Amino acid sequence: MKLNINNKFTNELPADALDSNETRQVAGAAFSYVNPVKPKKPCLIHVSKELAESVGISLEEIKSDAFLTIFSGKTILEKTKPYAMAYAGHQFGNWAGQLGDGRAITLFEAIHNNRSTMFQLKGAGKTPYSRSGDGLAVLRSSIREHLCSEAMFHLGVPTTRSLALFTSGDMVLRDILYNGNPAYEKGAIVCRTASSFIRFGNFELFASQNDIKNLQLLTDYTIKHYFSEINSVGKEKYLEFFETVADKTREMIVHWQRVGFVHGVMNTDNMSIHGITIDYGPYGWLEDFNPNWTPNTTDNQYKRYRFGNQPQIAQWNLLQLANALFPLIEEAKPLEKILNDFPIKYEVDYIEMMHSKLGFEFSSETSKNIINLLTQNLQLTETDMTIFFRSLSLVSKVDSVENAFEKIGTSFYKLEEVKDSVYDTWMYWFTLYINQLKLENQSDSERKKTMNLVNPKYVLRNYMAQLAIDAADKEDYNLVNELYEMLLKPYNEQKQYEKWFAKRPDWARYKVGCSALSCSS
Ligand code: AMP
Ligand code: MG
Repeated sequence: MKLNINNKFTNELPADALDSNETRQVAGAAFSYVNPVKPKKPCLIHVSKELAESVGISLEEIKSDAFLTIFSGKTILEKTKPYAMAYAGHQFGNWAGQLGDGRAITLFEAIHNNRSTMFQLKGAGKTPYSRSGDGLAVLRSSIREHLCSEAMFHLGVPTTRSLALFTSGDMVLRDILYNGNPAYEKGAIVCRTASSFIRFGNFELFASQNDIKNLQLLTDYTIKHYFSEINSVGKEKYLEFFETVADKTREMIVHWQRVGFVHGVMNTDNMSIHGITIDYGPYGWLEDFNPNWTPNTTDNQYKRYRFGNQPQIAQWNLLQLANALFPLIEEAKPLEKILNDFPIKYEVDYIEMMHSKLGFEFSSETSKNIINLLTQNLQLTETDMTIFFRSLSLVSKVDSVENAFEKIGTSFYKLEEVKDSVYDTWMYWFTLYINQLKLENQSDSERKKTMNLVNPKYVLRNYMAQLAIDAADKEDYNLVNELYEMLLKPYNEQKQYEKWFAKRPDWARYKVGCSALSCSS
């Protein structure tokens, strides 16, 4: 395997003076050199071939022993020195101090076709930032990260990617429900990729240490390598940087709301500076459209990270980033302006996105009203978000309201509840919707095509991931493969996968892993 190594992060930013994996507080450093723990018997479970090729690894090389041992952390590639990044963060609204890569270790950066990629192992053992954790990961959470990051990519949502999934051959002790019942589970490692894994928290760390020199170094580094379109200087440069991060973050959230993704742990240490989805933990997919839903049991009480709250949380997280960058700007007003503009711009983008989901070309007071009413209607009884929007594209300008309603009928979890005033509300909505379609220039078939490009047919429903996990636990990886293949083309009709275009089955409603997940991973 010939990789064009270029470790710019470690070359240009300060290293921790110590290089042991011992847990500690680290100051004046952007990272610490560490050694991944050697997995006892690494086994390749799944690889994203198309990602491998895009980073310069051939299909032949994937099958090699070198691929298996390098990307599972068993052998360290020549001229590379793995490291864990230092960062801090706000967790669930509170300052949490130093966090850092507790179970992530970056192996190296490599350039292919002028694109630089960081390769990072998740679950490769302790680092100085592991606190009380073991730095390891279990199979269930690794399958979830591997499948979901690839699914998100193919949905067109900005995200980190996952190159490969391995079992480690080691057993890992976890208390899944945090109820005093720890048990051994299969250990696993994911090798994930991104242009960088820099988070809001990397900036918060230096700001909290009052280390303005390194704060500036990190910010200049980030702008130079990843925001090269910014060519202003001084304070203006940092402001432009902040504004660009706000824009990218906003775009990411609009995508989440479009596909029904709930991150579950939007702490500032889980917010990428590039506006890409990062750290797939207790995430989930909306099944019935419920803005108050969060999959994360740790957040059950306040539901801070519920679906409908993601835009507000993004803004709150940006406020923390603004505070961290403040020493480089020293003026609150322009930062406040960017923060105050965030919800205004978000609303514009959100409305535009919803127009595309409904198949409207033009925006008017009426079309906006139809969107608002729909958001309410979807909550009248349990209604499957993915099935509803996908089926909506079948509605035609010449349909009667009854006909139109029938076409989306399978999206209701309990059709028998859609009666009386609920039924009337839907009839009224379809009257408005069909009237609006009649005003559109697009033909029914053109509209169907464009709607199907934004309303996925297949998403990684929570229970689907759990079925793949249950099978994988018995060393049957067929479902991991099948879901991966299906999710490569989430907007396409794929007859062979039609069975996955279905509502969550009843058994999955309250099953652990299907609707509720803890942070234990
Ligand atoms: P997360 O909620 O997964 O984003 O993790 C928050 C912090 O805890 C990060 O600094 C992680 O690196 C760390 N962490 C999570 N799980 C483990 C683990 N098993 N061992 C060590 N550190 C962990
Ligand atoms: Mg994290």
